[in-house]
Amino acid sequence: MKCKELSSEDQSLNKHLINTQKYQQIAQELHEKNVKLIAVSKTKPVEDILALYNAGQKDFGENYVQELVEKHNALPKDINWHFIGHLQTKKVKYIADFISLIHGVDSLKLLTEINKQAAKHNRKINVLLQVHIATEETKFGLDENELDQIMKSSELAQLKNINVIGLMGMASFTTNEQQIENEFKFLESLKNKYPGLTELSMGMSSDYHLAVDHGSTMVRIGSLLFGVRA
Ligand SMILES: *Cc1c(COP(=O)(O)O)cnc(C)c1O
Repeated sequence: MKCKELSSEDQSLNKHLINTQKYQQIAQELHEKNVKLIAVSKTKPVEDILALYNAGQKDFGENYVQELVEKHNALPKDINWHFIGHLQTKKVKYIADFISLIHGVDSLKLLTEINKQAAKHNRKINVLLQVHIATEETKFGLDENELDQIMKSSELAQLKNINVIGLMGMASFTTNEQQIENEFKFLESLKNKYPGLTELSMGMSSDYHLAVDHGSTMVRIGSLLFGVRA
């Protein structure tokens, strides 16, 4: 598929033209550290995604299935799409034929459905298990014990159309850097318990430097690249 260029008319209509200079700086910094940059484009228009794409970015992250499907249909096909939100089991089928990595998996039920849908498309889908490392209450993410249960389960071993390649986590929403560091260190230690896991998806706009210092292999950055979300 041919990549659409932004016409000058498009550009003048686009009220929130994004800052590709900032992008180049962050991309370069992460490239030097061998950390993958995932540009989190949720709620942002395809024009903004194309602007980063044309500046060289190939990995984008989205949180909502319908929005992701629409953007996938509208944008160049060599984009690697990451699903970083909470994925409902019944919606796996809509993204199974193209998704590059699913970050937030936190149940065997969901792993089983991803495996089933991947098999239908003759694919192997890469996934990350989400661990709850923050202090805030949330329904999402595994604790250490639940992670262990899944990792050693015989069910997981039988799912031939998925690869569990690493862990994902979100640190507490706090300005206390020591606490954020401790949470990242904890996630890193969990990853290191399992030699088969190579990827660590942690770090967002406000804390990605700390995440990179503690072994992150991919950071999910939204507002720093695209501006704050409404
Ligand atoms: C929105 C979101 C991000 C990006 O957050 P920013 O603070 O805008 O960088 C990263 N990870 C997840 C899971 C998100 O939902």
